[in-house]
Amino acid sequence: MTTATTIRELAERYDTLLFDSYGVLVNESTGLPGSRELIDWLESTGKSYFIVTNDASRSITSRTEKFVQQGVPVPSERIVNSGCLIPLFFKDNGLAGAPTAVLGGSDATEYVKQGDAKIVRLDRMAEASVFVLADDEGFDWRPNINALVSTLNHKVLESEPFTLLLPNPDLVYPTGERKYSFAAAALAGLVESALDRLFGPSEQHHFIRLGKPHAPIFDEALRRAGASRENASVVMIGDQLETDIAGAVAYGIPSAIVTTGISRFSTAEELSALPREHRPDYLLTSLSLG
Ligand SMILES: [Mg+2]
Repeated sequence: MTTATTIRELAERYDTLLFDSYGVLVNESTGLPGSRELIDWLESTGKSYFIVTNDASRSITSRTEKFVQQGVPVPSERIVNSGCLIPLFFKDNGLAGAPTAVLGGSDATEYVKQGDAKIVRLDRMAEASVFVLADDEGFDWRPNINALVSTLNHKVLESEPFTLLLPNPDLVYPTGERKYSFAAAALAGLVESALDRLFGPSEQHHFIRLGKPHAPIFDEALRRAGASRENASVVMIGDQLETDIAGAVAYGIPSAIVTTGISRFSTAEELSALPREHRPDYLLTSLSLG
């Protein structure tokens, strides 16, 4: 069952609120209705909340500046993005010093440097053992994706171990009214398809994904909130069933869908009929504090 509710009710029921960014608080150019008042209210009441966003292409500093430009002044320490999971991944997996090729821009490369990786230039990609597909911008797709497939083919044939990392699992992102652009996961899909074709399907040559709907980004949000997965009093508020809602359900926390973003559904009846893995617990028709 999906139940209609309000932000105020969720804030009373749960210790921590997690918000998606695009389609919930902001669109490409500006804050969505009610988001400024909501952030001001959360800050003034001292409520625990975090912005949980798959973007890995901007540093936390530039993301914070963008929020200010959009009229939604979210403090930097409230932002959990896929980019800030990159250095944690390197530390948790003993990859400090690992030769790493980064397909992405300078902000994405900065996250990898924070993981103490040894950055390898893309024209010397064969020397890398870790490959981070961090963005759809900042590098020339065609030659570098071709080089990546060729490099990985060689490594599989020579039994050389490697790690593939995809911080942001989003396939496409909105660039305007009914306009979309491919994101890094679309390129990762090409690489995985090629390797599946060459060697048969295997997780060994698939990318490790950090952002929603996967667990690492929720782990980090809860760590910042000082909560544990087992007894977290936390709710995920988002606009996408496939990432925000499916991620929360798989992680084992409640979720609320807002109908201000790209959700195709607008009534509690429609949402209640969805399979459990995509079914939000709550419906929010606005961010209004009422
Ligand atoms: Mg969204």
